Amino acid sequence: MLILAFESSCDETAAAVVRDGREVLSDAVASQADMHAVYGGVVPEIASRKHVEAIAALTDRALAEAGVTRSDIDAVAVTYGPGLIGALLVGVNFAKSAALAMGKPLIPVHHLRGHIAANYLAFPELEPPFLALCISGGNSMLVDVRGYTDMAILGATRDDAAGECFDKIARVLGLPYPGGRPMEELAQGGDDAKYPLPRARVAGNPLDMSFSGLKTAAVNLVHNAAQKGEALDRSSLAASVAAAISDELVPRAIEAAKQCGRRTMAAAGGVAANGRIRGDLERACREAGIRLYLPPLRLCGDNGAMIGSQAYYEYLAGSRADMSLNAYANLEI
Ligand code: AMP
Ligand code: MG
Repeated sequence: MLILAFESSCDETAAAVVRDGREVLSDAVASQADMHAVYGGVVPEIASRKHVEAIAALTDRALAEAGVTRSDIDAVAVTYGPGLIGALLVGVNFAKSAALAMGKPLIPVHHLRGHIAANYLAFPELEPPFLALCISGGNSMLVDVRGYTDMAILGATRDDAAGECFDKIARVLGLPYPGGRPMEELAQGGDDAKYPLPRARVAGNPLDMSFSGLKTAAVNLVHNAAQKGEALDRSSLAASVAAAISDELVPRAIEAAKQCGRRTMAAAGGVAANGRIRGDLERACREAGIRLYLPPLRLCGDNGAMIGSQAYYEYLAGSRADMSLNAYANLEI
């Protein structure tokens, strides 16, 4: 079964063709990151406009690169939330028009389910159940993937997402947006114990996370140093931030896997590209006897292929949308 999938929840426009949920025939992505870098973050209105400009040509590219025509496509899929509402609406409306014009079923896909499914594209043997650590620019959560379309949240951030924490600290350090990758480069050779940063404990659910205290502590450190005219060891601060974020995520992921009796774990989302977090996860999973799947870097960020993968399983589970499909800024997984 061939699915044409669209993704436009944030600042990447993407169209892809995926066969049977596992094989990527094409994966066309147009990033707007350079456009938003000028402002130090995503400007929602600009994101929507850029999606409108890019999506039709990207669709042609995805079909051409896959070597298929519209009549070969069996279904159309689209991210319908969560994300920036104006950005989501572009993909949803384009996908609705495409499905209507082609006379094919329309499959709505949850963005984070898509991030998790990126692992199915990289690892043919991976099947639920497993524990997923979803860490992106807008979300941080621990998900028990009981089945392809049956998921339960075990813990989530109470405030900022891990990616947001990297991005905001990067901004006060004068690094470009998005800041995760530049922060990782800056951290090379730094002393990760030089700056003591808080590790949060959240009352109520020990698997819930919090990143805003850590973010504020790091931002204050930078501002205080600037006010006192003190030199800051930027490299060690970046390394200390990565260590603190990793400490927030990794032990909780292991604990969550133990709680639901999972022996397999998969990471998902843009922050899963981080070398420090990947290394810590590998070590912790080895010690706990958990099999770990880390998607290749190109599948960590937003893309259409992951939406096409999850869409296949949503389709098998009977999920269909009609022309009344809406987009949702917030959406339960
Ligand atoms: P997503 O929301 O899944 O598209 O992921 C985007 C987020 O991932 C942004 O907050 C980026 O700063 C972050 N990110 C990307 N690469 C890295 C990296 N190497 N280390 C940490 N965060 C990263
Ligand atoms: Mg994302």
